[in-house]
Amino acid sequence: MINKDIEKILITQEEIAKKVTEIAKKIDETFNGEELIVVCVMKGSLIFTADLIREINCPVILDYMQVSSYGSGTASSRFISVKRDLEQNIEGKNVLIVEDIIDSGNTLFKLKELFDSKKAKKVAICTLLDKPSRRESQVNVDFIGFEIPDEFVVGYGLDYAQKYRSLPYIGILKPAVYEK
Ligand code: IMP
Ligand code: MG
Repeated sequence: MINKDIEKILITQEEIAKKVTEIAKKIDETFNGEELIVVCVMKGSLIFTADLIREINCPVILDYMQVSSYGSGTASSRFISVKRDLEQNIEGKNVLIVEDIIDSGNTLFKLKELFDSKKAKKVAICTLLDKPSRRESQVNVDFIGFEIPDEFVVGYGLDYAQKYRSLPYIGILKPAVYEK
């Protein structure tokens, strides 16, 4: 049954599952059996990461980060603060950063800088959702699930005020919910 705060299901559970398998296949082709440190960017990509790593055949080491981003209007003044950093030393390793959604791109841009400074062998970026119309910082994304329009979506890990993460589909939130 659809949640009462959801206006419309944008991507169904079945469509997500099919896409996750497709992305995992591409990741396997890229890394060709080499070990991969998969970094889940909490909390939004928790469910996507959990599904994705079970479809990847390369040996996976799982780690996670939690970051928060602040913006005061101008891109140059944006920064991220790391609330939980990696446990693994990634120097010389293959790393896959897993994100739920790329919106302005500012979070990933800063994350990528941080990872590059740690001298990983290769840093690849994977996102389930992409809102390209909202981009402020250009980042090279290696694996993209779905391009979506500029709508606020929740479910499958994505939240509004920490709610709706457990919905099994990606849905457009009724504007009345956040305009209240
Ligand atoms: P950005 O790319 O730095 O703007 O930040 C992306 C982050 O903003 C994501 O990781 C989400 O936490 C959040 N976000 C952006 N758009 C949405 C959305 O439609 N629904 C839920 N969270 C979103
Ligand atoms: Mg996020």
